[in-house]
Amino acid sequence: MNRLEGNVALVTGGSRGIGAAVALRLAEEGADVALTYREGEAPAQKIVEQIEGLGRRALAVRADSADAAALDAAVERTVGTLGRLDVLVNNAGVFLVGPLDQLGPAEIDATLAVNVRAPYQLARAASRHMTDGGRIINIGSNIAERAPFPGLALYAMSKTALIGLTKGLARELGPRAITVNLVHPGPTDTDANPAAGPNAEAIAGLTALGRYAAPAEIAATVAHLAGPDARYLTGSVISVDGGFSA
Ligand code: NDP
Repeated sequence: MNRLEGNVALVTGGSRGIGAAVALRLAEEGADVALTYREGEAPAQKIVEQIEGLGRRALAVRADSADAAALDAAVERTVGTLGRLDVLVNNAGVFLVGPLDQLGPAEIDATLAVNVRAPYQLARAASRHMTDGGRIINIGSNIAERAPFPGLALYAMSKTALIGLTKGLARELGPRAITVNLVHPGPTDTDANPAAGPNAEAIAGLTALGRYAAPAEIAATVAHLAGPDARYLTGSVISVDGGFSA
């Protein structure tokens, strides 16, 4: 289905995991896609080739989300190369966990820069170019709803901030028919949280479905939000978490 034909999407952290699945799914639905990465050029190029194999245009931009100027440049390159910007997916995230004693100012700054400041900064930069009717989709976390283990306070704090960002931006950009929504993935099988990892069985047991998500299962909801059927959906928080927060 080509519901996104003619659209251009920018996906941060699109070289692996959930971001890569989102980039590919949006391309399958007809979008041209720019994706950012921090250091892994080879995986980013692989996703670009897969998108081009679908007959879409694609672009990989090295841009550390902790670097505000690099984010502005990524938006400019996307618009300069692909011609427009319709969909922004704020996906790149830092997952630093541990006891209070071990996570101090450096870790707080690193987490907030990528998980909170970057989505705000990118929304600013993207909204200057975005067509009316555009989409901003933030990727939060099930941990913003429920922090079941010690050590998650910093990460949970950063992801909870996206609720306020999403609702505030929905109000601000609504007059331009730009929708802004937040997806809370549950445990999803990626390098950051492998389904075969040491705590995976316990984590999967906290979901109603008793298993991890595949990245494509998160991407499916992102694609819906990006598409025309979701045009009246804004300011919402959508859990795609297998019932983790049920
Ligand atoms: P992965 O570690 O699998 O992939 C991370 C991706 O983001 C890579 O493409 C990586 O690029 C890129 N990236 C990492 N740091 C930066 C940075 N500073 N600037 C730009 N790009 C960066 O992560 P996931 O797919 O698991 O997570 C994606 C999002 O989903 C995150 O926001 C995470 O918090 C959220 N989430 C994940 C869950 C899970 O269980 N997996 C559960 C709930 C939420 P590179 O290879 O170059 O480093």
